[in-house]
Amino acid sequence: MQQAITNGEQLLDRLGLSHLAPNLDANNPFPIRLPDSYLHKMRHGDATDPLLLQVLPQLIENDSSGSRHPVHDLDFMQVPGLLHKYHGRALLITTGACAIHCRYCFRRHYPYAEASTKNNELEHSLRYLQQHPEIDEIILSGGDPLMLSDARLSRLIAQLDDIAQLRFLRIHTRIPVVLPSRVNDALIEILSRTRLKVCVVVHSNHANEICVAEQHVFERLRGAGMHLLNQSVLLKGINDSVDTLVKLSKKLYENDVLPYYLHMLDPVQGAMHFAVSESRASKIIDGMRGKLPGYLVPRLVREIPNSPSKSAISGI
Ligand SMILES: *Cc1c(COP(=O)(O)O)cnc(C)c1O
Ligand code: SF4
Repeated sequence: MQQAITNGEQLLDRLGLSHLAPNLDANNPFPIRLPDSYLHKMRHGDATDPLLLQVLPQLIENDSSGSRHPVHDLDFMQVPGLLHKYHGRALLITTGACAIHCRYCFRRHYPYAEASTKNNELEHSLRYLQQHPEIDEIILSGGDPLMLSDARLSRLIAQLDDIAQLRFLRIHTRIPVVLPSRVNDALIEILSRTRLKVCVVVHSNHANEICVAEQHVFERLRGAGMHLLNQSVLLKGINDSVDTLVKLSKKLYENDVLPYYLHMLDPVQGAMHFAVSESRASKIIDGMRGKLPGYLVPRLVREIPNSPSKSAISGI
C-alpha cells in the first residue's frame, strides 16, 4: 500500500497517456488510489483500457445527477457498523479503507468515520447478533475487510466464532484481484482456523484483472477449503458486452470461482456515466445465456431500498 499510486498524472505518464491529463479531476474528494500491481495489468497507451477506466478520476464525475446515498444503507444500520437488511444474514462494515478506489463505488460518499465498526463498538454488534438468533451468516464488508491487520481480523473472527448460532462467514473483497500479495500465509492461516464455513466473494469486473498472481490467490483460498464466488458491477465502457462477460465467467470458472451477481450500478453521484439501462442489461444477460452453461451466468440484480432481497432483473 505504501507503493500505491495516488497521483493521476503519474499514472497517465507511466501508461504513455499524458495527453489525457486535462481530463483529470485532481481535486476529487474521492482521490485516486491503486496498487502498482494493478497498473501492470493495464494496456500501455490505451485510453479505453477497462482497468484504467475503473480508477481514473475524470472531470465527468462532477456531473451532479444521482444520489449521495443510493441504497439507503444508513436506514438499516442497527448499531454503528452493522447492517441487517435481509433475513438470516447481517453485514459488518469492518473498515472504510480499500486497496483501490473504484470510481463507480456506491459507498464513495459513505460516512465511514461514524458508521463502521471500531474496536470499542464491536461489542454492540456482537450483542445485536446474539439477540437475533435467526442470523446464521455474518458478512464482512467495508471498505475492504482484508485491509484490516492480521491481528484485528484474527480477533474479529475469533469473536464471531464464539457466537454459537453463526454457521457461515462470508467475506466480500476486491483484494484478491487488486492486491494479491495481501493474501499471504498468515491470512490463509487465520481464515483456515475458524469453525465457520468460509465463502469469499471476490469483486472482479473484467478478465484482465485476473493474471498469474491472482490465479495463485484463488488456488490458495480453494486449497484452504474456502468457497469462491464473484460479483461484478455492470459498467458502461468497461464490461458492458456479452463477449467481455463471457470471457470473465470462463476465466473465473477455470480458477474455481463461480459467478454470483452482476449488479446494476447503484445510482451514485459521480458515477452515473457508468450506468447501463435495464433494457440493455437484460439483452446482455440473455446474450450470455445463449453462450454459457447456466452455472456460469451471474444473476442480474439491482438493489432497491426496502426490498427483502436483491431484486432480480429477468431478461427477455
Ligand atoms: C447485498 C447485501 C447482503 C447480501 O445479500 P445476498 O443476497 O445474501 O448476497 C446482505 N446485507 C446487506 C446489507 C446487503 O446489502
Ligand atoms: S473496493 Fe469496493 S468498497 Fe472499495 S472503492 Fe472499490 S467498489 Fe468501493
